[in-house]
Amino acid sequence: ENGWCTLKSLCGTHTISPSAPTFSFGRHSSCSWVCDDRRVSNKHFELSYNRAAVCKETAVTCVDTSSNGVFVNGKKIGKGKSSVLRSGDVIALVPGVEALSFTFTMENKTEERKDETPLTRFDTVIVESSEANEEEGQESANSPRPGSSQIGDAITCGICFGLLYKCVTVVPCMHNFCGPCMREWSDARERAPCPQCRGATTHIRRNHAMLGIIEAFLRENPSRQRTAEEQRELDAKPDVPDSVL
Ligand SMILES: [Zn+2]
Ligand SMILES: [Zn+2]
Repeated sequence: ENGWCTLKSLCGTHTISPSAPTFSFGRHSSCSWVCDDRRVSNKHFELSYNRAAVCKETAVTCVDTSSNGVFVNGKKIGKGKSSVLRSGDVIALVPGVEALSFTFTMENKTEERKDETPLTRFDTVIVESSEANEEEGQESANSPRPGSSQIGDAITCGICFGLLYKCVTVVPCMHNFCGPCMREWSDARERAPCPQCRGATTHIRRNHAMLGIIEAFLRENPSRQRTAEEQRELDAKPDVPDSVL
């Protein structure tokens, strides 16, 4: 009840109130809101709220990441495309199904919360790439341990929700993403904002320390390994070029 918007299902059963600026809806457990319905994609759609937007009318976008479509006021967005959302819009995952259709409403009180730092669950553990971390045997007291409940989030890419691959870190916010995911997101823009917090980017760094952390995590959680097919898909995508790093 304290989020920046509400999504109320037309059947009246669910009221979702995201507080993080990025909100994902889908069947996969890594989504902000998990909906266990076979008609829902692993990640069905994602909302992004740009608190710093000058024009409040275009501050919220909905990205269609589904297989079967996201419909805003009856109009299909299209996979990989996005649509601006305004108060009163109806987002339908399956048209005509009230439990999978939501009325979107902006909350006015977000204005008063302006100087509050947006927190996402990804902020709980920040893994910094530093020389010290790369030295074998060196472990700072607060470095996350494989298998802890927080590490799964800390090593998850905020774009694809998979384990970080060819990890890059956005400076200064220190959010981590797969290199290929970041490359796709920035889409040749020189200083694309951080996809997670929308903060300004001064530069992007390769995070070599993350590789060892993920290897250790996979030894304890082999089920989190990407499938061979996912791996091939990622490998086929271009990585952030060295000239940018
Ligand atoms: Zn990724
Ligand atoms: Zn960020």
